[in-house]
Amino acid sequence: MLDKNTFDAALRPGVRASLAGANQALRRAEAETFGRLLDERGDFLPGASFRRDCPQCGTAHERAAELLRAQGMQLVRCPECRLVYSREVIDRDFERQRYQDSSASQANLELKHDPFYAALERDKAAYVAGRLSELAGPGRLLDIGSSSGALLRAAEEAGWQSFGMEINPAAVQACQAAGLAAVCGEYPCALPAEWGPFDAIALLDVLEHVADPLAFLDRVSQDLKPDGWLVVQVPNFSSLLLTIEGVRNNNICHGHWSYFEPATLPALLVRAGFEMRWFETYISELDRVLAYPDEQVAAAWEQLTGQTLAEPRDLQVEQLHTRMLGYKLFGLFQKVAT
Ligand SMILES: [Zn+2]
Repeated sequence: MLDKNTFDAALRPGVRASLAGANQALRRAEAETFGRLLDERGDFLPGASFRRDCPQCGTAHERAAELLRAQGMQLVRCPECRLVYSREVIDRDFERQRYQDSSASQANLELKHDPFYAALERDKAAYVAGRLSELAGPGRLLDIGSSSGALLRAAEEAGWQSFGMEINPAAVQACQAAGLAAVCGEYPCALPAEWGPFDAIALLDVLEHVADPLAFLDRVSQDLKPDGWLVVQVPNFSSLLLTIEGVRNNNICHGHWSYFEPATLPALLVRAGFEMRWFETYISELDRVLAYPDEQVAAAWEQLTGQTLAEPRDLQVEQLHTRMLGYKLFGLFQKVAT
């Protein structure tokens, strides 16, 4: 029943071709949105961004080793806690505007209307709700960044009472029209007081966007019941595809301020007062990986695992996930009584 390969686009024939146009439109819109914040040298315009120290342990950014530069951001690795983060963060007002009315947000929503994409989203949401239900609940679930409501629906079907918050008004209207409990606005300001406290809070593709993740998780923890659960998904900075593509990878972009890896995501959550109960990678992107020459695939594999990959053409999705090299990190974390 629970099979993460059901929502792996690399294993579903026809998905890539169906999504190609919408994906291209999204990339174009994103490039245009990013470009508006940069000068002709590719640095952020004055006032558009600020610099910060390590968002996990506070170590000064000057001490961190630079990994790569992209779109005005300098990605560095903290010498103390090993977190990879962008030294530059876009100013909040710029950031908010970007989500609310940019052509990129619109293109993102249009991608979600594609029937292939919607099917993948639905299957992933069912998997996430299923994993959570194996360990917890049912009870009250809050999805922060509920988007088109796939998880709200799947959680309801699994017996949870689900609530969504989303910054994009069109996405919220679609949820409300479908009878789902969703409000438009930013967490935590717009959270209706009568909704909580929650048995579980979902943060799917959220933590990488937050400039101060520990302060954010502290607030999330307050909205959870004792022993409550966090459902977390973030892009995997140490995925095989991202390692091959480097700055060309579309996960390296404005709005992604922290770049988590299998070691650093649990460390952040432990620091925030949670214990890890489930952790894996899902979504292989194996077809995109294998579009690169064997030498590049083998080199990235060796960089990540320290081992030689004899036959890159024969690579299987299970090999990727066993080594935590899939495209997304997914974990269930339980609040620890303090
Ligand atoms: Zn640090």
